[in-house]
Amino acid sequence: MAKWEENIRKVIPYTPGEQPDKSSMIKLNTNENPYPPAPGVTEALQHIDTDKLRLYPDPAVSDLTGAIADFYKVGKDQVFVGVGSDDVLAMSFMTFFNSDKPILFPDITYSFYDVWADMLRIPYERIPLDEKFQICAADYKRENGGVVFPNPNAPTGELLPLDMVEEIIAANKDVIVIVDEAYIDFGGESALPLLEKYDNLLVVQTFSKSRSMAGMRIGFAIGSPVLIKYLNDVKYSFNSYTMDRITIQLGVKAVEDRAYFEETKEKIIRTREWTKTELRRLGFEFGDSKSNFIFARHPKVPAMELFEALKKKDIYVRHFNKPERIADYLRISIGTDAEMKAFVDFLDQYLTDCKIVTA
Ligand SMILES: *Cc1c(COP(=O)(O)O)cnc(C)c1O
Repeated sequence: MAKWEENIRKVIPYTPGEQPDKSSMIKLNTNENPYPPAPGVTEALQHIDTDKLRLYPDPAVSDLTGAIADFYKVGKDQVFVGVGSDDVLAMSFMTFFNSDKPILFPDITYSFYDVWADMLRIPYERIPLDEKFQICAADYKRENGGVVFPNPNAPTGELLPLDMVEEIIAANKDVIVIVDEAYIDFGGESALPLLEKYDNLLVVQTFSKSRSMAGMRIGFAIGSPVLIKYLNDVKYSFNSYTMDRITIQLGVKAVEDRAYFEETKEKIIRTREWTKTELRRLGFEFGDSKSNFIFARHPKVPAMELFEALKKKDIYVRHFNKPERIADYLRISIGTDAEMKAFVDFLDQYLTDCKIVTA
């Protein structure tokens, strides 16, 4: 190792899901929305004033923070916008987790948390989920430097009821509690109303799942004006112009169309419930996901075998080798009705061929 290598920040990066690009594939591996963004987004894109691209964008992203504030009926000074919620979360870790005490998050959870913690040298403790993959609020009542968890959790899809979320926030009033609500729109109850009672709560959401804009990179946090100010201070110490002009405009269009948002998320919920019924018929085991994916195992076929068989048919799902507790599961994003039917038909045939399902 060269001497200069000693001074290099060494990190083990997050591994994102595969992004294959084949026209015929069925892509159920990264929890994207199968429907296009709101029609207003396409319309606005066709009328972009390219001359304006000479100019820096608004560093405060006022149009978009305003539209989000209107949608969620909060003050504009309560909204922080970032380039995907990954950006918002990374900034939040940097801003709020500066204690010598460990931050707490579940052992099975979004696998970016430990990556950010390692990179930013934040000590952390993973709190085991119970045997049903549930978060136990009581386990978060110990000394810590902050708390973060997704609700619904990823990759399990399990929703923590709002009273339990509140129990965690109430027990941790001396630190910041971040609730990562990437999937909250698919049937969960948001912690946003708790902001009236708790100034240590930060709710993070994204346009990547329920608003069909993973490719655009928009995420946001809602919290007390004081927390948002601290977040902005850190952002402006890093890069003032994180979000580009086009994204700001299109993001406003996406958030303004409430009817389209409701319609597409309801469609996904219906398709998810249909898929659950079918998977149950085929002998799969899974919890009651309230997200846009199902985390399932088959007691008779190893997950890796199914993963490979599906991939050969250009059907992509996600499989995690680690931790071992979940190595037997597949995470299946909810696609369109037609995609889910093709997925189920394939499994039906596969399991019949290995005589696991009998007609
Ligand atoms: C998808 C996801 C995010 C990040 O999404 P962005 O595309 O960066 O907004 C954050 N947290 C969880 C739990 C997710 O699943």
